[in-house]
Amino acid sequence: MALDQETLNQFVDSVRRYVRDRLIPLEMQVAEEDLIPEDVISEMKEMGLFGLSIPEEFGGLGLSMAEEGAIIQEMGYTSPVFRSTFGTNVGIGSQGIVIDGTPEQKAQYLPKLASGELIGSFALTEADAGSDAGSVMTSARREGDEYVINGSKRFITNATRAGVFTVMARTGTREEGGRGVSAFLVDATLAGISLGSRIRKWAKKARIPATSSSTMCEFRPML
Ligand SMILES: Cc1cc2nc3c(=O)[nH]c(=O)nc-3n(C[C@H](O)[C@H](O)[C@H](O)COP(=O)(O)OP(=O)(O)OC[C@H]3O[C@@H](n4cnc5c(N)ncnc54)[C@H](O)[C@@H]3O)c2cc1C
Repeated sequence: MALDQETLNQFVDSVRRYVRDRLIPLEMQVAEEDLIPEDVISEMKEMGLFGLSIPEEFGGLGLSMAEEGAIIQEMGYTSPVFRSTFGTNVGIGSQGIVIDGTPEQKAQYLPKLASGELIGSFALTEADAGSDAGSVMTSARREGDEYVINGSKRFITNATRAGVFTVMARTGTREEGGRGVSAFLVDATLAGISLGSRIRKWAKKARIPATSSSTMCEFRPML
């Protein structure tokens, strides 16, 4: 347990109030403008929401899964767009680095992911690889000290805002299935990356119709 019970309760309470007083009144505006106000993103950074699950030594809050769940449960009371804003930094956009990154990769990326300075995205899904993640066809070919990644991804949350992608690409044979797939950290600034069009999403809720941030889009590491 990263936080004592009282501190956790206070944190959960503050997120609950923030959701009800600040985020819910903004739902319609965000749905119409398809944009989360910058000051809301700054507030989320200040609250530590981008670093919920990132270890304290890298500037995160180092919450356990249960503690993180308590926070996310509060976020679940409003449009999913708000959780998605920091959700990849807390989950799929950072956890590969937390679990399996080298010390250098951790030092380079985790503090910035925890503060929200950098957005992490996870690029697995392809046109023919969704539930069956082991059928990824994006390839990674070694050339000297580098890998050249070729392929196209889709449905990538926060792709348009990402500074670093965890890209799943095939380094082995097709017959190897998931065992032939490796994870690469790809800086968004690298040449050869192009982003497809943003996908506007919509979900009808009991309270109001709400869209998500529609920052999800296609992602092509190299064409
Ligand atoms: C809001 C949102 C955000 C996303 N963000 C990301 C992201 O950040 N990064 C990323 O890589 N991907 C992302 N995805 C993609 C998501 O992970 C895939 O959509 C998911 O893996 C399913 O793949 P698919 O859409 O190709 O559907 P398919 O795999 O084609 O599945 C279609 C249907 O068939 C069913 N099905 C599939 N296989 C079987 C089986 N063997 N037996 C029975 N039923 C089966 C499925 O349950 C589903 O109902 C996102 C998707 C959404 C909706």
